[in-house]
Amino acid sequence: MSDRLPPRRPQIIAVANQKGGVGKTTTSINLAAAMAEEGLRVLVVDLDPQGNASTGLGIDRTDRNLTTYELLVDDVSLADVIQPTQTDGLSIIPATVDLSSADIELLSNEKRSFLLYDALHRDEIAGFGFNYVLIDCPPSLNLLTVNAMVAADSVLVPLQSEFFALEGLSQLMLSVREVRQTANPDLRIEGIVLTMYDKRNNLSLQVEQDARENLGELVFETLIPRNVRVSEAPSFAMPVLSYDPKSQGAMAYRALAREIMTKHKKMAA
Ligand code: ADP
Ligand code: MG
Repeated sequence: MSDRLPPRRPQIIAVANQKGGVGKTTTSINLAAAMAEEGLRVLVVDLDPQGNASTGLGIDRTDRNLTTYELLVDDVSLADVIQPTQTDGLSIIPATVDLSSADIELLSNEKRSFLLYDALHRDEIAGFGFNYVLIDCPPSLNLLTVNAMVAADSVLVPLQSEFFALEGLSQLMLSVREVRQTANPDLRIEGIVLTMYDKRNNLSLQVEQDARENLGELVFETLIPRNVRVSEAPSFAMPVLSYDPKSQGAMAYRALAREIMTKHKKMAA
């Protein structure tokens, strides 16, 4: 027990990249599951109107009456929006397409960037006993993503091992800098994780080399391989760690979880 993070105050990580299809949701779900497997308590906040994290973690559409939309817009309490999942220790605040209108509805609200921050503090997220909160962001640098960055301790960036992967990263970093200057000076970059990596493909090797040269220590050692089991798991409404615990994908997400948890233990020491 003693080498774990104290349960009081969760580390809040926004999983963000304005490109779609780079592995944000996959990383949110499976990193969360890997942390839960280590005995930690983890909350996934689905902040994407597509609701893929909710679907991937088995929350039926009919069970999404209270969602991140109600949390942000209607001030519904945390206790009312948090739902357990089939995975021990792993909970979720689900999302529906309703959330897509939040962006517009909130434009006139002066505190529009602080809604998630306020929601987490209004009901003292610390009291829920989570070790980690992972926020699955939409594929855009919109108000929802800004809300995630304002509420977070750090930003985790999945980078697809593909041509042009590094493009767009500077725009993301600019948003991080803006949030630091205006709302959240302590916001860190948790790291950049290469996803859908194929070691037989020169392009993957090239992207990795470019990323490590340009971004150095920010790039996680762990590479997430392209693995068909990872892409199949959501249609069975479970993390790949449950769907195929011994798959390459499951093992990679366990390694990523350990890399992050080890870093946080060092930071806390
Ligand atoms: P985002 O949330 O950034 O839009 P997703 O996590 O939904 O991206 O991933 C996009 C697609 O790629 C999904 O169909 C997903 O199943 C697939 N995918 C993600 N990571 C992997 C992986 N490591 N191996 C195989 N397929 C993957
Ligand atoms: Mg997604």
